[in-house]
Amino acid sequence: MTNLETMSKRAQRGSPLVGVLLLAGYVAALAAPLALALIVLPRTHDSFLWELGKNCALVAIAVLALQFLLAARLRRITRHYGLDMVLRFHRSLAMFALALIVLHPALLIAGGAGWPLLLSLRIPWYIWAGKAALLLLLIQVVASLLRARIGVSFERWRALHNQAIVIIGLAFLHSWFAGDDLRYRPMQILWIGLLAMAVTSYTYHKLYLPRAGKRRAYRVSGMTQENRDVWTLSLTPTEDAEGLSFLPGQFHFLSLYRGDDHDGEEHPFTISSSPATPGRLTSTIKGSGDFTRTIAQTQPDVHVRVQGPFGRFSYLLHPGESDFVFIAGGIGITPLVSMLRHMRDTGGDLGVLLLYGNRTEEDIAFRDELEHMADGGHPRLTVVHVLSRPDASWTGEAGHIDRTTITRWCGEDLRGKAFYICGPPPMMAAVTGALRGLGVPPARIHSERFAF
Ligand SMILES: Cc1cc2nc3c(=O)[nH]c(=O)nc-3n(C[C@H](O)[C@H](O)[C@H](O)COP(=O)(O)OP(=O)(O)OC[C@H]3O[C@@H](n4cnc5c(N)ncnc54)[C@H](O)[C@@H]3O)c2cc1C
Repeated sequence: MTNLETMSKRAQRGSPLVGVLLLAGYVAALAAPLALALIVLPRTHDSFLWELGKNCALVAIAVLALQFLLAARLRRITRHYGLDMVLRFHRSLAMFALALIVLHPALLIAGGAGWPLLLSLRIPWYIWAGKAALLLLLIQVVASLLRARIGVSFERWRALHNQAIVIIGLAFLHSWFAGDDLRYRPMQILWIGLLAMAVTSYTYHKLYLPRAGKRRAYRVSGMTQENRDVWTLSLTPTEDAEGLSFLPGQFHFLSLYRGDDHDGEEHPFTISSSPATPGRLTSTIKGSGDFTRTIAQTQPDVHVRVQGPFGRFSYLLHPGESDFVFIAGGIGITPLVSMLRHMRDTGGDLGVLLLYGNRTEEDIAFRDELEHMADGGHPRLTVVHVLSRPDASWTGEAGHIDRTTITRWCGEDLRGKAFYICGPPPMMAAVTGALRGLGVPPARIHSERFAF
């Protein structure tokens, strides 16, 4: 392993201890408004429901402010959990905040404010601000949960989601002017701190990073067709760009400046090249949607912004493993091929069985390269193609990768093997279920989803 790789591995490994400490810090930040209120606010004779309603709002605002920190893709946070897990947490916490914000007026009404709080039009502006924040949060959560089902494109959803900063502004104004609690200096300092953190995180993510990404400017140096709808985009850093140090299997966000409808649009793609060949960065992309179907039209020298690396799907992060089963479906081969290339380039004595599912022979990507690797001996690679719709001449494995395929090629004793899975969600769920049924512990099953 090169020095660069060792440094990159160390920088990106993350630590369970730091992960636990960060989580503890997060919980402490959520509890801070309540703890401070308990210490600095005088006792009142308000009803229990009224107090509970106020406390729901205090915690909700802390949750909302911290949402911007979670979404900011800070590698100091994401490397301990993986970006996908942080974003899943962010999504769950949005629902928690919504529940608290709905409970807030409901409990105040039940606790003494009565129905006028909800029904009257003659209410102060800061109550309207609170109602607007609740409505906007509801729209954000519903749009995020139902986006695919109601046919909203990812780009439209993202444009809407970028407006979420307005919610924290409205909630801040509402609480500052409506709540007695915010008359006290320590509570004011905490509130300003939370707001400043939210605005700084948002500015860093949405304004600073895109500009700073220019320091990671790359240009397209080649396009290679892998099969009928899969293309490999090769990138070369521009003269003043910092190189990207990454682990095999990780991904980055790419924005292509082609001057078309998708100009500067950011998409996540696995880095399919091996970090053992510095200066070369590739992503292998399947034309599956409105942007990716245009990838073949990319011209050489197009300017590309790269942000990354992200992800924890890398065999280098699990040094105790040496007997691998890689299971890929379709374009899910990309992180696995990056790991195989790295194993080949570093000449390690590792054993890999690759079960690679596709519909037809024409859909197989990297077929020749995989064959060469299997002949080369580093890693000791066996490739098994599994086709779900083979033509009559196919003599190999047919059907879907399932428990039978796994036991036929791995045997019944799976102890000591590590499984790396990437493919369409139904295939990943089926394979993971089969492996759990065969007694493989969760710590030996690693997977990467191509959706957050
Ligand atoms: C960690 C990761 C690694 C990936 N690696 C690869 C790879 O190596 N090769 C490959 O072909 N594909 C990869 N993908 C999938 C790729 O990002 C999507 O196929 C692509 O963004 C779809 O864009 P589209 O406009 O063509 O399709 P659409 O039809 O518009 O989108 C299809 C789905 O892709 C997701 N998506 C769309 N746009 C974005 C975006 N800007 N940011 C995040 N998600 C989006 C949404 O879930 C959407 O529902 C990866 C995805 C992730 C999360």
